[in-house]
Amino acid sequence: MDRQQAQQRVHKLREEIGRHNWRYYALDEPEISDGAYDALVRELQQIEAEYPDLVTPDSPTQRVGSVPTTQFGSVKHAQRMYSLDNAMDLEELDGWLERVEPEVSRRGCGYLCELKIDGSSIALTYAGGVLVRAATRGDGKTGEDVTANIRAVNSVPLRLLVQGKVPPAQDALFSDEPVASTVEVRGEVYMPKESFERLNAEQDEAGQPTFANPRNAAAGSVRQKDPAVTASRDLSAFMYQIADARALGIGTQHEALTWLHEAGFKVNPDVKLCAQAAEVHAFCEWAMNVRNDLPYEIDGVVVKVDDFALQEELGYTAKAPRWAIAFKFPPEEKTTVLREIRVQVGRTGALTPVAEFDPVTVAGSTIARATLHNEDEIRRKGVRIGDTIIVRKAGDVIPEVVGPVERLRDGSELEWSMPAYCPSCGSDVWREEGEVVGRCTNAGCPAQRLERLGHWASRGAMDIDGMGTEIITRLVEQDMLHDVADFYALRFDDLSSLDLGRIKKDGTPQLLGGTIARKLMESLTASKTRPLARLLFGLGMRHVGSTVGEALASAYRSIDALMAASEDELAQVEQVGPKIAASVKAFFANPENIDIIERLKSSDVRHADPVDEGERREQTLAGLTFVLTGALERYTRESAGAALKALGAKVSGSVSKKTSFVVVGAEPGSKYDKAVELGVPTLEEDALEMIIKSGLPPAEDAL
Ligand code: NAD
Repeated sequence: MDRQQAQQRVHKLREEIGRHNWRYYALDEPEISDGAYDALVRELQQIEAEYPDLVTPDSPTQRVGSVPTTQFGSVKHAQRMYSLDNAMDLEELDGWLERVEPEVSRRGCGYLCELKIDGSSIALTYAGGVLVRAATRGDGKTGEDVTANIRAVNSVPLRLLVQGKVPPAQDALFSDEPVASTVEVRGEVYMPKESFERLNAEQDEAGQPTFANPRNAAAGSVRQKDPAVTASRDLSAFMYQIADARALGIGTQHEALTWLHEAGFKVNPDVKLCAQAAEVHAFCEWAMNVRNDLPYEIDGVVVKVDDFALQEELGYTAKAPRWAIAFKFPPEEKTTVLREIRVQVGRTGALTPVAEFDPVTVAGSTIARATLHNEDEIRRKGVRIGDTIIVRKAGDVIPEVVGPVERLRDGSELEWSMPAYCPSCGSDVWREEGEVVGRCTNAGCPAQRLERLGHWASRGAMDIDGMGTEIITRLVEQDMLHDVADFYALRFDDLSSLDLGRIKKDGTPQLLGGTIARKLMESLTASKTRPLARLLFGLGMRHVGSTVGEALASAYRSIDALMAASEDELAQVEQVGPKIAASVKAFFANPENIDIIERLKSSDVRHADPVDEGERREQTLAGLTFVLTGALERYTRESAGAALKALGAKVSGSVSKKTSFVVVGAEPGSKYDKAVELGVPTLEEDALEMIIKSGLPPAEDAL
């Protein structure tokens, strides 16, 4: 980025960040997540670091919060209220620790780690031990007078308990200016998670706007015109700072917390005085783990140099103290730049647009691609190539493009539309009426063929260990593989001499070699014995996934019987309706597919399921539906499912009122919550084992 581009971008970013600040601080109505907002601020900081002459005093990187609104009286803070610098990961935290460490260890003072409460900053002034004023942080210099509202927050004492520590002053109660006999304490007003849920439900019912998160609900509740509304909102407050602690003879942050506690304030108990970086790390990890179990939201850990004399020496930047840092938990949303939308051709010819963007770390892992599903979805999201986009990854969830930051556009962004031709073979793209997905119409399309072959070899299908995309691609290129039956015509020599398309140092072509070829031959042989369900899934008939594959296999037991079944008969099979039945019939009506099946048979690929012990068991669980969630110790999800099915049970992927039992393993997912919600009985692994071994459903009294 050259200087001119940087200037333009800085201008746009400031405008956009300013707008979000206003929505967040003045209206308590954020439009984007904190993670996405932080990413925009971080980008601005990075450009300003590269071009320091572009920094202006009004840049959001130099200012705290936003200008207070005029609906409340304003309060000039006796001492500035600062924000905190952020460390977005442990590496950034280490950068800060390294900077302050020499002085910290020289004085032997340590760091005080506190939870970063996700609420709204508040400053409380007590004169002669009595609460006389409460103010928001505002822009750090001037805040809003919210005294009447804060008086309604139960955990804020109206009178300090330790009278002796505050020298009384006759006129303090009536003074507008803070005087020596006053003490100012600071902390965070917050709304407990439960109260937040309740409030939003009530707002919803009353047709009122809901709050985006507990932090905004707290800030919005503190800034109500009518204190009675604040009083009804169930707010609480943790205090963590005394503005002029040294005047009270207090020398460290941990002593300040003790003082606050003794004075009657609510102080968060989860703090730790750490001697070195490793302990600080451990506290951050601990906080990340307990985060979801706490009754209030936290968004990180605040690490503070404990000693006030050293704090004073380290001082402040324009916006934040140098003696503290906020370690932020990995955000689930960030911003990045959309570089390309590439079309992937699936094994059934479905064309899927995939967003390719600059790599970003979100929720702890780096992502650079996310599916955009189909053209309608792209239009709905309104993304263009070159857009700054918000991307999301919550926990284990698949990466997702949330949408563009439209105001950051500079006019160079390009609209995208689905190509009319397949990007792999150039054939026409056909979009059936009522369908959202376009498809390549050429069954011989090379991209489809590669996907089909890869699917056959994949773990859920025939599981040909070691047969990955690269080898399959080379085999196709070298004319040895056209369809799935060709896998079983491969000989050891074909594989060992397979040219990998790379040149070795000695100038000769790199071949696959004997060791890998031998393993692949073994994998191919092993794959011939997979159950019929896997073969049906592997053939890639449209709408036949692994569950339908199993349903068809257990209904017909051999491919010959399946081929002989009429469309009507097929449609009667459970899990198979008319649409799937038609698709299966269409597959077998194609002579190319019949040829493949005949060649698979003559290569001794199993095409019928033997009736074995397991399958001969009595159908004692017929009519019962099980759902499995969480990790089991003695079974895989598949083996437990297969054992239950062998006894006649149905195994489903989602919990409903019709579910008979939910088997719960370690770290169960939302299915467990659903079971509890619907009152579906749950079983542990021991009970499951008993059912499988005895073949009997659980006794009523065992539940
Ligand atoms: P901040 O919330 O990141 O950190 C500073 C604040 O942390 C302090 O002012 C204090 O109120 C609070 N805090 C909580 N526990 C504390 C403790 N134990 N010790 C000390 N301080 C503690 O900074 P900020 O300036 O208040 O707000 C910026 C943040 O607000 C951004 O990181 C962003 O996530 C969010 N924001 C979001 C939007 C949006 O549109 N989504 C807009 C503006 C700001």
